Amino acid sequence: MKKALVCGAGGFIGGHLVKKLKKDGYWVRGVDLKHNEYSQSLADEFIIGDLTDATIVASVCNLPFDEVFQLAADMGGAGYIFTGENDANVMHNSASINLNMAHYATKVGVKKIFYSSSACIYPAYNQEDPSNPNCAENSAYPAAPDSEYGWEKLFSERLFMAYHRNYNLNVRIARFHNIFGPEGTWTGGKEKAPAAVCRKVAQAIEGGSIEIWGDGKQTRSFLYIDECIEAVQRLMLSDFTEPVNIGSDEMISLNNLAKMVMDIAKKPLSINNIPGPLGVKGRNSDNKLIHEKLGWKPSKSLREGITATYSWVKQQADCK
Ligand code: NAD
Repeated sequence: MKKALVCGAGGFIGGHLVKKLKKDGYWVRGVDLKHNEYSQSLADEFIIGDLTDATIVASVCNLPFDEVFQLAADMGGAGYIFTGENDANVMHNSASINLNMAHYATKVGVKKIFYSSSACIYPAYNQEDPSNPNCAENSAYPAAPDSEYGWEKLFSERLFMAYHRNYNLNVRIARFHNIFGPEGTWTGGKEKAPAAVCRKVAQAIEGGSIEIWGDGKQTRSFLYIDECIEAVQRLMLSDFTEPVNIGSDEMISLNNLAKMVMDIAKKPLSINNIPGPLGVKGRNSDNKLIHEKLGWKPSKSLREGITATYSWVKQQADCK
């Protein structure tokens, strides 16, 4: 039986990944600061621990795991990473986790380690035109991420690649582009755009309005969680060790995303564009490399994923 360690197992992607690994017959150890708020973990062993602490990392990495998934990070949506208020914590906490994980994974001889980087590493100067952003993997340098969160991700990509070169740590690195779906943070300040928009629509009064930060013309693409997990597992099966995008290339403006949610909810509302933390003007996953190397591309439309997510967020909001 294969043994996997999932760091960040109490989070959104980690929670879904544990479920999938258990379905595939793995023995799984999960680690996180907290349990998942929305579902009971299926992990065989769930350790509550702080991965910024090297002694904790040494103890959770005490087996030569077949696969380690390093998803733990101090992160959130635009309201968390673009205000500047959390920069020091984001950089310190996530970098400490990654420094510890790369070191102890090497020391114990894990067979393969996955690191979740982000689209936030891409240079702001290539994402000023909302209709034509460039997020090809080879456009990452000269580096100019638009947030400290992005700088830390870029540093940690380089860290894992250095361990690969110097100590043969068998790494797989994905740059996730806005992953969304049920059982993700939907309220409290760390939620991302799809869940936030679903919540606003679910909670709005009939005929009322919702607020969207900025002019709403900023564009993004969003990948449904099941597709993300499938791509991660394909990457782990491959021998590709360079960073690669895992995202959707179905780009949409934030105002149009809001309209899509209203349409799914059958709830017409007006949009009030207000000042708020924003990030770059346009971002879209460039999927040429992943398609070439892994033969992977997303199979679900954004609308299908948003339909499932809206129904889950509405249920959560109704229970509050
Ligand atoms: P999440 O916040 O739901 O999960 C991260 C988990 O890490 C949380 O449960 C958190 O408690 C845990 N964690 C934080 N600090 C820790 C510590 N010191 N010790 C132990 N656990 C700690 O986020 P997610 O959406 O599941 O993202 C997973 C990974 O993917 C993160 O590294 C994130 O940066 C990356 N990523 C996610 C997206 C996305 O759209 N969701 C996009 C790009 C990159």
